[in-house]
Amino acid sequence: MTKKDSFYDLNEADVDPQRIKREREKARKLRKSQWWLSQVNAGICYYCQQKFSPSQLTLDHVVPLARGGRSQPGNVVPSCKSCNREKSLDTPVDQILKKLKLSSSSENGSE
Ligand SMILES: [Zn+2]
Repeated sequence: MTKKDSFYDLNEADVDPQRIKREREKARKLRKSQWWLSQVNAGICYYCQQKFSPSQLTLDHVVPLARGGRSQPGNVVPSCKSCNREKSLDTPVDQILKKLKLSSSSENGSE
């Protein structure tokens, strides 16, 4: 038995430098795959849904590697450079929470 199902546990294994190195290596290979080429050729940024030329799209992890994300279809999406920069280490959940915070603070704000 070499299969490790317990690998999905989210704990210190997520920030294991060896794991991140391995996932980065996988991302590098994924970038050369037919699957990825078809993603960037479609030219749609996953986040803003705008159209870009393939060279403007970067490979982005929806859940960052440092948060336990993996380099595989489903977690790897094409992103334009400005979305990629804005996102940094936030997960989608973080972004939703931020938006909620912003909207509730502007409701209670005294402008
Ligand atoms: Zn974008």
